[in-house]
Amino acid sequence: MHQIDQTHDPQLKSWVETANDPKSDFPIQNLPFCVFQQGDRIPAIGVGIGDQILNLRIAADKGMVGDEFVESLQANTLNSFMSFEMEKRLELRQLLSSIFSSETSADRVAVESAMVSQTDATFCLPCRIGDYTDFYASVYHATNVGCMFRPDNPLLPNYKHIPIGYHGRASSVVISGTEVRRPVGQKAPAEDGGSPTRSPCALLDYELEVGFFVGQGNALGETIPIEQADNHLFGMCLLNDWSARDIQKWEYQPLGPFLAKSFASTISPWVVTMEALAPFRVPALIRPKGDPEPLDYLSDPENESHGGVDLKLEVLLTSQQMREQSLSPKHLSSGNFTNMYWTIGQILAHHASNGCNLQPGDLMGSGTISGTERESRGSLLELTWDGDSEHPLPGTQRTPIVLPTGEERKFLADGDEVIMRGYCENESHRRIGFGECRGIILPAV
Ligand code: CA
Repeated sequence: MHQIDQTHDPQLKSWVETANDPKSDFPIQNLPFCVFQQGDRIPAIGVGIGDQILNLRIAADKGMVGDEFVESLQANTLNSFMSFEMEKRLELRQLLSSIFSSETSADRVAVESAMVSQTDATFCLPCRIGDYTDFYASVYHATNVGCMFRPDNPLLPNYKHIPIGYHGRASSVVISGTEVRRPVGQKAPAEDGGSPTRSPCALLDYELEVGFFVGQGNALGETIPIEQADNHLFGMCLLNDWSARDIQKWEYQPLGPFLAKSFASTISPWVVTMEALAPFRVPALIRPKGDPEPLDYLSDPENESHGGVDLKLEVLLTSQQMREQSLSPKHLSSGNFTNMYWTIGQILAHHASNGCNLQPGDLMGSGTISGTERESRGSLLELTWDGDSEHPLPGTQRTPIVLPTGEERKFLADGDEVIMRGYCENESHRRIGFGECRGIILPAV
């Protein structure tokens, strides 16, 4: 597990003045990575500070970083840098922290010449995502969804023993701001024995999730013991797992989600490192009395005491009409990543437990993050549903969300923009943010 060191000192300030704004997502304590482009130049790796980005390719060219990092920081994806051991990555974090801190501003002119305003940058995917796997780690989400379809038996018998996941599609993972085309697909027959139809998705939804990137991988045939799992994690981002509920309902049995998910998954551009998240590690969710203990390969005292991440999340929505009238986004829900039944360490250890080789830059999704309260439900499927786990109702009874324009939503309409935000905050440390994950829905073709 990462240690808290001088880079997390809440008193630490930067000569980049915007980083010292208490509302900034990117104070000197954060230092998230991205890949960005200026105009038509080749994408470069950057590190965020305040409202600026330090171009790490230029920094590497000018000898501002240690020799061992030069080649990986001159690349146009983070994959090579992600494969460094945690201790090495920590060295770069400490170096960047000292470059940006006010006490050591001697190199300031050289550093400033390698900086660009975030508003002048176009963000790219931070790495080449070889594989994407999506999990189902929130027991509240699994219970809500289970209640809609199996009110008497919402959780399947495997749920509390095994982190449930499926292999997603890496090629359609897109960066925040990319427009998302409403998919067309097959729907279940209206009555038993009837024929399925094919038409634009009518029940388009988002899923609030956190994504995490694999750092150092494991060789094929080898595993990642749970005690080592954190050393194989690079960092986290926000993830919107767009979902076509009507297509999903017809196709998901017996092999799980397919075209209902693979049309697009949006991630935020910033990768907040596990090093930066050290002050916000919290105990794993305490399992209710009577729940089974995880099997040995998913059990570790350090995971129990620090496996969680206290990451606060919110989802907002604007419609086309709202943007035309310059109305503020409508807040839909707030969540917290501490509400997960399985930790990211357990998910990673489980994924590699059969000898499957994970590789630097592989992306894992947490699964929809829902909490115990109605206000913390992480999808429209759950938010507009009239039931709850104590009063389960079949999935069709819904109350729409009313937008400031008077428009109503049970699911997403064309022109809607979904905005996700996340940040970590506690009494003894500086707040750090994840930026935003955005996407607008385009009409079906
Ligand atoms: Ca999902």
